[in-house]
Amino acid sequence: KAKGAGGDRFHFYAAEMNARSLERLELENGLRRAIDNDELVVHYQPLLSLRTGEIIGAEALVRWQHPERGLVMPGEFIPLAEECGLIVPLGEWVLRNACRQNKAWQAGGLPTVKVAVNLSARQFAAQDIVLLAGSILEETGLPPACLELELTESAVMADAEAFVHATERLKGLSIALTIDDFGTGFSSLNYLKRFSVDRLKIDQSFVRDIIHDANSAAIALAIISLAHSLKMLAIAEGVETEAQLNFLRARDCDEMQGFYFSKALPAAEFEAMLRQRRKLEFSSTSRLPQRT
Ligand code: C2E
Ligand code: MG
Ligand code: MG
Ligand code: MG
Repeated sequence: KAKGAGGDRFHFYAAEMNARSLERLELENGLRRAIDNDELVVHYQPLLSLRTGEIIGAEALVRWQHPERGLVMPGEFIPLAEECGLIVPLGEWVLRNACRQNKAWQAGGLPTVKVAVNLSARQFAAQDIVLLAGSILEETGLPPACLELELTESAVMADAEAFVHATERLKGLSIALTIDDFGTGFSSLNYLKRFSVDRLKIDQSFVRDIIHDANSAAIALAIISLAHSLKMLAIAEGVETEAQLNFLRARDCDEMQGFYFSKALPAAEFEAMLRQRRKLEFSSTSRLPQRT
């Protein structure tokens, strides 16, 4: 009897596993189609200066406009795309799209902003990103200073030696670089000084608890000070409240992004925001940054 029950359970697990790998396969095939059929869309989240309050750029964040499932967020397909290698064509598509879009905004006479594009470690290893970025800039006519690349700290540290080399070449093209999700990937400080990186982006997990958790606040402050010591800028992601904004601003953080100002928007909505020159308003009680 006990044996029978175990057998049933085995069948149950096997069926569940089959269903799961089937779902995965479907997702993978769907994603492959999505890249070819232009089902992907890029949304743009404003990046703001904490000194002037102005929009200085936008982070390009991919979404999948699925014919049945609606708008699918990257957390649901980027990890799979990384596993099966589809991240390479997907990432190239996002990079080309974002550069083309930013060039169109400039041609339309909007304020000049930069566009920040996420790269995955897999992409970085599979192709010569510097060559690719260079040719996409040439093809779209976007000035290199208007493109920024974001690589997560853990991706950087996975092959730090290759990254050192790539950052030097990117610097040659004047493409800026941000280390994303900083504080979660155990950087070797020894490498950090060798990178030609422009920005450290404080991971949103620290920003979320910055007001109420002393450790998160301490880590955020350490990242800001580390960035400045290495002549980099610090940007905070995931800013949702005025208290967080004021805290970061008083502590000399340079830039921010977050729902407090805006979530990632369809291109047309971001464009409208840029056209209206929408800004962050600082309350008079928040201290002005003291940096020279
Ligand atoms: P990320 O690069 O760290 O991007 C920031 C994420 O935080 C975005 O989520 C953004 O919508 C979200 N966010 C921004 N402000 C706030 C806030 O105030 N509160 C909260 N709760 N969230 C906020 P999203 O768009 O879902 O993207 C998730 C991740 O997917 C990205 O994290 C990035 O790692 C990856 N991703 C997105 N697009 C691409 C892409 O084109 N290529 C690659 N390789 N990865 C991408
Ligand atoms: Mg990012
Ligand atoms: Mg990030
Ligand atoms: Mg993040």
